[in-house]
Amino acid sequence: MTRKYTGQCACGAVRFAFDTDPNFVANCHCLDCKRATGSEAATFFAVPQEDFTVINGRPKAFHYIADSGKGLDRNFCPDCGARLFSSNLESFPGLVFVTLGSLDRPELIKPGVEMFIKRRLAWARPLDLPQFDGMPG
Ligand SMILES: [Zn+2]
Ligand SMILES: [Zn+2]
Repeated sequence: MTRKYTGQCACGAVRFAFDTDPNFVANCHCLDCKRATGSEAATFFAVPQEDFTVINGRPKAFHYIADSGKGLDRNFCPDCGARLFSSNLESFPGLVFVTLGSLDRPELIKPGVEMFIKRRLAWARPLDLPQFDGMPG
């Protein structure tokens, strides 16, 4: 069965797939995203948990309490350390948050919002997207 979207870690040991066209795609500047990625922002999107399948390998989960005080599991490849997705999100039950750069074809999905812009560093330019101080809505 061919899935619409596939992705993998840096070494290829962990692969995943899903079919949903995500309707929430964010470029996020929050401190959690900075820490978790080691970069200024993270681009990620939400996929229903029931549509998300790990098709190869065994990601390792690190349980973590976000700035919001809510728990989540950050899943990464135990071989190469690449971050792949977040699951068991206390704030967003039933969803998995996937990092855009993990996709085999990241050009297929574009961010729709830019958020936590209060944490955006001065040198980073705003994208031409709706801007939110924190979480949208
Ligand atoms: Zn890997
Ligand atoms: Zn964030």
